[in-house]
Amino acid sequence: MGRQGEAAAVGDGGATALLVLNAGSSSIKFALYEDHDAPALLAKGQVDGVGVAPSFRAAAATGGARVAVEFPKGEGPGDHHAALGLAMGWLREALPERVVAVGHRVVHGGLRFSAPVAVDASVLSDLAALIPLAPLHQPHNLAGIRAAMAAFPGVPQVACFDTAFHHGQSFEATAFAIPRRYYGEGVRRYGFHGLSYESIAAQLPGVDREAAHGRTVVAHLGNGSSLCAIEAGRSVATTMGFTALDGIPMGTRCGAIDPGVLLYLMDERGMDARALERLLYRESGLLGLSGISSDMRELEASAAPDAREAIACFAYAIRGAVARLAAAMGGLDALVFTGGIGENSVRVRREVLNGLGFLGLDLDEAANAASGPRLSARDARVRAWTIRTDEEGVIARHTRSVLTASASG
Ligand code: ADP
Repeated sequence: MGRQGEAAAVGDGGATALLVLNAGSSSIKFALYEDHDAPALLAKGQVDGVGVAPSFRAAAATGGARVAVEFPKGEGPGDHHAALGLAMGWLREALPERVVAVGHRVVHGGLRFSAPVAVDASVLSDLAALIPLAPLHQPHNLAGIRAAMAAFPGVPQVACFDTAFHHGQSFEATAFAIPRRYYGEGVRRYGFHGLSYESIAAQLPGVDREAAHGRTVVAHLGNGSSLCAIEAGRSVATTMGFTALDGIPMGTRCGAIDPGVLLYLMDERGMDARALERLLYRESGLLGLSGISSDMRELEASAAPDAREAIACFAYAIRGAVARLAAAMGGLDALVFTGGIGENSVRVRREVLNGLGFLGLDLDEAANAASGPRLSARDARVRAWTIRTDEEGVIARHTRSVLTASASG
């Protein structure tokens, strides 16, 4: 960004706004919200392919302003800082609001952070210490915070954590059966996708009141995937663990694996930590199983047996996770699908639900084909739903709360 303070004034009108950033390895997703207790969306967009083949898309929520640009190779933003500058430049042209706080999605809050927090130097250094626990996400989340600090000097930055919703889970739900001293050192299950689960928990009372007070499993199925047991609005168990590798297979991540496989690969194949990291985070999951793609749409479109088997493995793992999480709550009232796959894939939902009749789930094929929101037969004992997740909206609300609390404190 150019001059100090320039970006803070997205526009020079009197109205103020909250900016939400979700910085990934090669993308920055952003959303601008009204600075309000129930913040309404003003605009959203994303810069993808940062440093490789950048593209930029954004649109105002009310229609009107809109942009879609593909940059020629070697042009366009080369880092998060430049990507944020591009987004801010567009927002400044398109909207009059002035940014008064920036909320960030941060994947790992470790043991220290169980709620959203205003970022200062001590918070930043604690978050940097968690990079080894989320090597695929945390460094990029922090790059987003640093870029926003530079672009919006003096504007509060609020970190919102994917782990926070799971704080408060029991020892049984969070311990690994290794010597107990490791638990105290922080080697335990944290769980992720908490902002998405929070979004679903907040919407659930309007969809299924009984389940909102009872026992719900939420399946967040996207490029990263996990499931969470939510009892009366609180997370009691989840499939991801110490890192975002555990649980069910994902786009390129393996999910749960016998740790003996890692010992074997180290001893017999000479793989070191970096080689294992590449294998488990980037070459496994749906991509590894199919040899075709990590993208569910491509797998569904493929006639290859390996694509079919990859989807079957994915659904099998989800069914197993639903049963385990139902056991953690002593029963099940509802199953909610969310995330890019959960909200859109008729086939994955069918393959999951058709194997869960024994739990009381009963798929309504026509409702599933119409993508819900209700997916189960009307008289099913356990309801199934699709609910669109809104992680950015959750971050906007948290950002506003932290801002309000710090103003009144
Ligand atoms: P992220 O975890 O990066 O936020 P998303 O939640 O957007 O990702 O999910 C991306 C996944 O959703 C991809 O595997 C994509 O193929 C899948 N997806 C999106 N739309 C559909 C669809 N109509 N049918 C099947 N899969 C879909």
